[in-house]
Amino acid sequence: MDHHHYLTIEQREALEQLIRKTIPPGLRLDTMLKHLHSADYGVCIECGKDVEFVRLQEDPTLMHCRACGRLPVPGGPAR
Ligand SMILES: [Zn+2]
Repeated sequence: MDHHHYLTIEQREALEQLIRKTIPPGLRLDTMLKHLHSADYGVCIECGKDVEFVRLQEDPTLMHCRACGRLPVPGGPAR
């Protein structure tokens, strides 16, 4: 396995517990668990930096770091 992201196995296990608690069994859960164990989980999809573990604990489905998370989602509802 070629896992190169910064999260430890323990951290990923903790997040897996969280995800199983948050998301009901089904396709979305399967997708999320697959994503959790992929190499790009915990890495910002915008800038490629690590997403802080504390923020992943609040929302394990996060895909942005703190800086990029503040940016409006492209195509999202205007506020
Ligand atoms: Zn970022």
